[in-house]
Amino acid sequence: MPPATRARDKRFMKRRPSSTESTKDAIRAVGLRATPARLATLQMLREAISPMTHAEVAERLAENGVDKATAFRNLNDMTDAGLLRRTELGDHVYRFEEIRPGEDDSDTHPHFLCTVCGTVSCLGSVKLTASSQRASQAVGEVTEILLRGRCNDCKSGTATR
Ligand SMILES: [Zn+2]
Ligand SMILES: [Zn+2]
Repeated sequence: MPPATRARDKRFMKRRPSSTESTKDAIRAVGLRATPARLATLQMLREAISPMTHAEVAERLAENGVDKATAFRNLNDMTDAGLLRRTELGDHVYRFEEIRPGEDDSDTHPHFLCTVCGTVSCLGSVKLTASSQRASQAVGEVTEILLRGRCNDCKSGTATR
């Protein structure tokens, strides 16, 4: 595949390979039934490199004949069960992502929100230093670390949307 085609939609670029069996196991491990709709949802979020909104998830699941209400219910069920994390990054839109192995719900990674195109990126390796953590704990409990700015596409003015 030429690189231009592969990079066309970076949101759906494979983050890491994920077999159907391991996805089923993950859903069953939290006590939920591994229905085809849940399977498709978790598989999609595992392969996404950034959190997806309910609308984006529902739109892609609709291709498999899953209705919007079911898509939304499954996202909430899997969030409550601890498989997914729901984030709100100051734009009043809930986005969902898989809680990655080695993370727990309280150990979230920072996100970067582009204020021009609305793209959200995970900053997996960015952490608060110990002294930053102490300083924030003196103020309250941190539930989300958010960086806002212009993504590289918007910064260089090459974005087409
Ligand atoms: Zn942007
Ligand atoms: Zn993330």
